[in-house]
Amino acid sequence: MSVTRERSGALDVARIRADFPVLERTVGDKPLIYLDSAATSQKPRQVIQAEADFYAHHNANAHRGIYLLAEEATAMYEEARAKLARFIGSPDPATIVFTRGTTESTNLVAYAWARRELREGDEILLTEMEHHSNIVPWQLAARDTGAVLRYIPLTDDGLLDLSELETLLTERTRLLAVTGMSNSLGTLPPIKELVEAAHAVGALALVDGAQLVPHVPVDVTELDCDFLTISGHKMLGPTASGGLYAKRELLERMDPFLGGGHMIEEVFHDRSTWNEVPFKFEAGTMNIAQEIGLGAAIDYLEALGMDNVRAHEVHITEHALRRLQEVGARIFGPLDAEVRGGAISFWYKDVHPHDLATILNEEGIAIRAGHHCSQLVMRRYGVPATARASFYVYNTDDEVDALVEALAKAGDVFGS
Ligand code: PLP
Repeated sequence: MSVTRERSGALDVARIRADFPVLERTVGDKPLIYLDSAATSQKPRQVIQAEADFYAHHNANAHRGIYLLAEEATAMYEEARAKLARFIGSPDPATIVFTRGTTESTNLVAYAWARRELREGDEILLTEMEHHSNIVPWQLAARDTGAVLRYIPLTDDGLLDLSELETLLTERTRLLAVTGMSNSLGTLPPIKELVEAAHAVGALALVDGAQLVPHVPVDVTELDCDFLTISGHKMLGPTASGGLYAKRELLERMDPFLGGGHMIEEVFHDRSTWNEVPFKFEAGTMNIAQEIGLGAAIDYLEALGMDNVRAHEVHITEHALRRLQEVGARIFGPLDAEVRGGAISFWYKDVHPHDLATILNEEGIAIRAGHHCSQLVMRRYGVPATARASFYVYNTDDEVDALVEALAKAGDVFGS
């Protein structure tokens, strides 16, 4: 099988693949076919080198010393912040707080905004397709404040059921927190309309961008969301890189999240005053090398062009949906690639997803099996787990075909 045959959509995938060292490896005697980018993406040489270069030549703490290395480290770290702001359409780098990713970003909002702002009876509106990291922080905040959680339900075909939106989103709603792209169903909810609807009742809107930002061009100025969470490790960046975008006036009003070094202006025996934003939210030594690596990942994605990244995703998702349906897989989530991303959850025959993943591993194919941190989705569709294949800029139609062939083998071994 040739995994380099294509120029798919608008990307030269063969050239892209040459940048990813891990794609050269084998699993047993089979070439690795990595179909788990929704969990974490692979990293191109450029990102690995950027992180190594920082440690080899510039390593010092950022925003601390006045010697050359420290100044270089600070400049590189702040350049990465400016890149991330520009990448998501914010004209102001101070609207980006660096974090370890979406989970930390959401918790930051739940601690620094929700616990201070919410009162008994206030409501937080979520959806049933959220990742646990966009549910549990709000459950904890609701427990501490007396706020109430409500959920937008799902349709049978994996979309948000917005028919009752007017009764769910009311003047009691203080926050709408919605995923930009579901990691288990692939769905792209209509976030612009939802942000507008939230603002119309006086609520703030948080978009979980963990899956959205890596795959779809995002412009927070146009979207007008109040918060956007970003996972660097899902967009070619290092693990523990990422950030929170928030409107500046909100960051100014919010309490700090973690206390410690650098987030203060002055410390007295009994109280402290805070550094300016975004540093008020960056306590202690930060993930400097990782955010610099994320800057290199953004350079890489910008060179590809995010419109091309999305076009490739639509192309490969269409191909995968077609091939999987041809062999009778049950797909969870929308069947139209234009309204979804490339994370495809499925059942094949009656083979348990864990058995499927085990057999596919023997063929060198890495997929995810489990509840994907989306137990509400699993409950909604009456399954304990699904198999999930997910794609990114380095995946090819040939790899999808290899997946489908390997499914047939698994079906022979386990299927009823
Ligand atoms: N939200 C969604 C939709 C996700 O897919 C994930 C990770 O899979 C997260 C949040 C959590 O992201 P992280 O692990 O980067 O904190």
